[in-house]
Amino acid sequence: MHISQYFNAQCITTNYLQLQKTFNSQNTVLCENNMMQQNGDERNIKAVEINFPCPKCFDDGLKEWVCERCRQKIEYNIDDEKLYCDCGSNYIKEFAFKCSDPGHGNDYVKFSENILAELVQGIKPLQEINILVIGETGVGKSTWINALANYISYDSIQDVLNNENNFINLIPTQFEITEKQPNGELFQKSIKVGESKNENFTEGQSATQTSKAYTFRHNKCLYRIIDTPGIGDSRGIEQDKTNMENIMQFISLYKEIHGICVLMRPNEARITPSFEFCFKELLVQFHRSAVENIVFCFPQTSGFNFEVSFFLQNIFVHN
Ligand SMILES: [Zn+2]
Ligand SMILES: [Zn+2]
Repeated sequence: MHISQYFNAQCITTNYLQLQKTFNSQNTVLCENNMMQQNGDERNIKAVEINFPCPKCFDDGLKEWVCERCRQKIEYNIDDEKLYCDCGSNYIKEFAFKCSDPGHGNDYVKFSENILAELVQGIKPLQEINILVIGETGVGKSTWINALANYISYDSIQDVLNNENNFINLIPTQFEITEKQPNGELFQKSIKVGESKNENFTEGQSATQTSKAYTFRHNKCLYRIIDTPGIGDSRGIEQDKTNMENIMQFISLYKEIHGICVLMRPNEARITPSFEFCFKELLVQFHRSAVENIVFCFPQTSGFNFEVSFFLQNIFVHN
């Protein structure tokens, strides 16, 4: 026999007893003021889980904490000193705690100001990894960035395909693929993912208008992928200069850039003057040691008989 629980004609659980058992085994927090709503329902990306002792049963060791209402793990953001859950957020000092120990009783208990300050100091922020992506206009940076985010986050492409909600879509993109139909005819398919203001799909113009950072989390790391306006802008070298200034200004916001990915066309016979200009501009801004963290990437290779060795030979011969 199972007991089901309904609320507003919606089934909350088909096994009420089991749910209550789970609830009773959880350490919960309660916000003494109303939770502030965030923009949309997106959890603050920088918040990390907290492992605090119970303020009442202090010697019991460190515990995981969930929100008493939404039952999501509560997370702390070092930058704004707030706790986050699906209900919203509020300052950490507004929260009271109740662990699952039967000896604790039913009351929610707050930390003293001093102890809370000490505990907060011990919270480690997420490790941040910043990756700068530059490349020629139309090389497919946005699509490549989406692919990179999924590549970092999943072991195999099957893991993404198993559930379409798994797919990480950082940037709305649009691209064409050519597929062979069973009757042998080639068929052009347009793939479009999401919508945005930062992309300009007008033909001939660089799609990404200004530098923009896209973040996602994986394994306690915060990945920040910096998308930049395309090099070799059809509006000319002056536009390239403006774009490079924009890129430099943008990356100066970050303490460290951990990797620079340079996206190149696989069918390029030699480096264009505007690409050379932008690449040199970029290099003078960095310490010489940055060279070790520059990676050349070649998207869209499937349609070409692509050989990296041939390509690199050309770079070295001409530059
Ligand atoms: Zn909540
Ligand atoms: Zn307790």
